[in-house]
Amino acid sequence: RFITLEGGEGTGKSTQARRLAQALRRRGLSVVETREPGGSPGAELLRAVLLEAPAECWDAMSEALILSAARRDHLATTIRPALARGDWVVCDRFADSTLAYQGFGHGVDPATLEQLYDLAVGPFGPDLTLVLDLDPQVGLERAKARGAETRFEHLDIGYHHRVHMGFIDIVAREPERCAMISAAGDEETVEGRILAAVEARMAE
Ligand code: C5P
Repeated sequence: RFITLEGGEGTGKSTQARRLAQALRRRGLSVVETREPGGSPGAELLRAVLLEAPAECWDAMSEALILSAARRDHLATTIRPALARGDWVVCDRFADSTLAYQGFGHGVDPATLEQLYDLAVGPFGPDLTLVLDLDPQVGLERAKARGAETRFEHLDIGYHHRVHMGFIDIVAREPERCAMISAAGDEETVEGRILAAVEARMAE
């Protein structure tokens, strides 16, 4: 099974991805934890290039192309082999982030991003996507408080609101794949919501 976590800055995705993987392991499952951008040696190189580049080094379409190349490598090298072994894969961000950030946030046409996905990935996607939902202002404050590097500090809050609306739109369009999880509250509270959603959606 392939589970992705999505959400804006400071929503706690990485913490919750780790907690979810641990909870699944306690149930005896073999779990691969991974992330995007990155998740394979080649894709981690592209992540470093993206995050180290000066802000607005590329236009959003160029970023989407770099992210797609990284995703293709990540899938071939890490995700598909893990799923083929029967492992569960928990991934911190996936293609929905490209749609939310480069699409809704920066204005790349969603249809173009869909074509790019078809080219880079093909007919494959997460079994379940957990979208962590938090007011963007609160998320940015959380991210700053922990000293996280966000690429978009220079951008106005309107950008983060567009990204947030993008995630809401994604969940509304694909309610079977996606679950909206409130990211308000402490780590245990959010973890409880996530485990309940995973139980409900992935009961065999
Ligand atoms: O998930 P994480 O916070 O580690 O992502 C690192 C940075 O990459 C964040 O600032 C995020 O906003 C940015 N990012 C991006 N476009 C994406 C995915 C992530 O600019 N499609």
